[in-house]
Amino acid sequence: MADSRKQVLDRREFLKRGALAGIGVGLFPLAEASASTPPSGPPQVRRYTTLGRTGLRISDISFGGSRLVSGQEDLVLHAYDRGINYFDTAETYTGGESETTIGNALRGKRDKVFLTSKVISSADDRRQTMMRALEGSLRRLQTDYVDIYFNHAVNNVERLKNPEWLEFTAEARKQGKIRFVGMSGHAGHLIECLDYALDSNGIDVFLAAYNFGQDPHFYQRFFGGFDFVARQPDLPRVIAKAKQKNVGVVVMKTLMGARLNDMRQYESAGATFSQAAFRWVLSNPDVDALIVSMTSREMIDEYLGASGWRSTAAADPPLLMRYARMNGASYCRHACNACESSCPRGVPIADVMRTRMYARDYGDIRLARSEYAMLVRNAEACLTCSSKPCRGACPHGVPIDSLTAPTHRLLV
Ligand code: SF4
Ligand code: SF4
Repeated sequence: MADSRKQVLDRREFLKRGALAGIGVGLFPLAEASASTPPSGPPQVRRYTTLGRTGLRISDISFGGSRLVSGQEDLVLHAYDRGINYFDTAETYTGGESETTIGNALRGKRDKVFLTSKVISSADDRRQTMMRALEGSLRRLQTDYVDIYFNHAVNNVERLKNPEWLEFTAEARKQGKIRFVGMSGHAGHLIECLDYALDSNGIDVFLAAYNFGQDPHFYQRFFGGFDFVARQPDLPRVIAKAKQKNVGVVVMKTLMGARLNDMRQYESAGATFSQAAFRWVLSNPDVDALIVSMTSREMIDEYLGASGWRSTAAADPPLLMRYARMNGASYCRHACNACESSCPRGVPIADVMRTRMYARDYGDIRLARSEYAMLVRNAEACLTCSSKPCRGACPHGVPIDSLTAPTHRLLV
């Protein structure tokens, strides 16, 4: 944790030294930018987008509340003041503190914002359980309804097929407690689940992990013969399918692990790695908006430097390529899942790696522990596994066998 605190300070120091001064000055090369005029004044949301069939007009860069804790109401208000109008949370985030903080901060502003929440409903949960979870979220958010209610972290089609989920969402809609239904996901069976949700017409919005490091177009365009292989060739297809069906597409985990401080020395004022990564996903015309965890005012202001763009900027490819080269070998693509069958003891390797990312890359041990505790199966088996058949199973070179046991020790 000492390291992670140092990283945050380093980043703040960088921003203080003037990187932000460049945002809105040299950031919008007119040849590439979709904004018609370069921004002036403080960073702010520069584009609102229609979220598919919901018709909601949401900020293209929106507030992810997974790391929000009590006492951070000012952070939420800073985002609101900058024009962010879509706040994403879940009952499990920070043990309910995220919802409570958003509810406190946005009291009196309900008609000006869109609120989402999520529940992890299992394949055999009853609708009464789901309704209780929803009502708990509404209480903490201090509202009568959420705009979108997500079936959270879905990695198993059976959860979507559960008739109780369908009846619960229908009933909650009738009662006015939810307006639209969504599905979120970031694990190995994401594509299969999204395909099912779209084909069965079961969702209005999806929220999925998507970044340049998972996108085959990135490797095709920039790497040529370089030895990288995108392991989610179907993700752009599913995103395009959602667009065709007028389902809203919000993406997350857009920073490919968010090892931001590693990149500071290569960034220039107003053209940072995070802005480049955001521009990459927002340049996909099938993506409506992104959410990202916002943990400081400086971060919000930096992130909003990419608002309004629908294309990459000239300085982006070198930054993204450098990041991919630096981190590609240790970055787990989560949903690629090529290693899934390598573990005879059924360890959900991609999920374990995701929680490790929260701890190591985000520096958020609390989030990591809470997500790890929710795994149906964890990496305890790795403590006593001597032959380690998962060794070499990752085509990207992630050293699975040396990471899973330490992750378990760290997070239990
Ligand atoms: S460890 Fe490797 S194979 Fe397994 S999900 Fe991550 S990137 Fe894919
Ligand atoms: S170390 Fe053993 S138990 Fe752990 S993921 Fe690898 S094969 Fe499975």
